[in-house]
Amino acid sequence: MIPVTKPYLPSREKLDKYIDGIYEREWLTNNGPLVQELTKRLEEYLGVENLLLVSNGTLALQIAYRALGIHEPVNGKPAEAITTPFTFVATSSSLEWEGIEPVFADIDPDTWCLDPKNIEPAITAQTKAIVPVHVFGNACEVEAIDELAKNNNLKVIYDAAHAFGVKYKDESLLKWGDAATLSFHATKVFHTIEGGAIVFKRKEDLEKAKKLISFGITGPETIEEVGINAKMNEFQAAMGLAVLDEIEHNYYAREKIWSYYKEHFSGGFKTQFLNLQSTNNYGYFPLLFNDERELKNAIFKLNLCDIFPRRYFYPSLSECALYNEVLDMPTSRDVSSSVLCLPIYKNLSTDVLVTIGEILDGILQSR
Ligand SMILES: *Cc1c(COP(=O)(O)O)cnc(C)c1O
Repeated sequence: MIPVTKPYLPSREKLDKYIDGIYEREWLTNNGPLVQELTKRLEEYLGVENLLLVSNGTLALQIAYRALGIHEPVNGKPAEAITTPFTFVATSSSLEWEGIEPVFADIDPDTWCLDPKNIEPAITAQTKAIVPVHVFGNACEVEAIDELAKNNNLKVIYDAAHAFGVKYKDESLLKWGDAATLSFHATKVFHTIEGGAIVFKRKEDLEKAKKLISFGITGPETIEEVGINAKMNEFQAAMGLAVLDEIEHNYYAREKIWSYYKEHFSGGFKTQFLNLQSTNNYGYFPLLFNDERELKNAIFKLNLCDIFPRRYFYPSLSECALYNEVLDMPTSRDVSSSVLCLPIYKNLSTDVLVTIGEILDGILQSR
């Protein structure tokens, strides 16, 4: 079976070396030496400061909201955050878990990121934050969002789960916002099996978050905050270090597949319009079909050849009864109902690429 993605497994010898160290030290968690080493190496690699490793990307979001005080009610009513409905459900569910009401604003029809011009009308007296997503690693309109936030006294937390290593105007995209969060889940470009990180703009927010991820305990006899357990452990960090050692191989393999798709399909299918000022990490290759019927036909034909692409992101969260009574977000709904992410991972074979090419060419010809 050909899935949409496979986790990158680094050299076993390299991983074993890191694990040997864990056995020697007998130090498994609580900010161990490998977690410290990975923190430093990621700050260097990404070109950022104030990075905090956590146990997954969902908790990264929750801790970021807490450290920035978004969860505190406004005049006795729940705080609100304006966010995109075209994302993985964790962007919204993490807000709900912190008692923050997600308020959707529709996406841009070309970039598929939160459209800045839809943000302002969604602002109310309860609004405390904007939570945009660099969807499929595509940089949001960060300058426009930044200005809106400043003018309206709002915090910005970017869900950058897809944007590992992405640069915007030659600097890390993660520098934008009061915080940017990453997911290091096994399916992401860089991973620690499960894991995540927060990059804070300000050191004081990092210090607050450090307390939050470890029960609010700040010393053997002091508890300063109502915290939670969101620590990364040494085995996760060992995997992260081994994957980071080989990250360029991973990019190289993904870029080749991405470019094949791009060359083959961009004439016939619509795809995401990429921010021209930013780099690409080749995490996803989404294609847009004319409509849901055409998409389902493509999935059916690919499945017959044992190829299983994914409907990322479907359904649009604005259509999802869990989050509100049906809100009309036509762009998100339309993109969601006709988008498909093609398989992309290191050892995907050329044969499979050719098969996908033939099947989708057939779809184009029958238009
Ligand atoms: C993967 C992902 C998350 C959640 O990360 P986990 O590490 O799986 O908890 C959050 N937001 C987006 C956009 C994601 O793709």
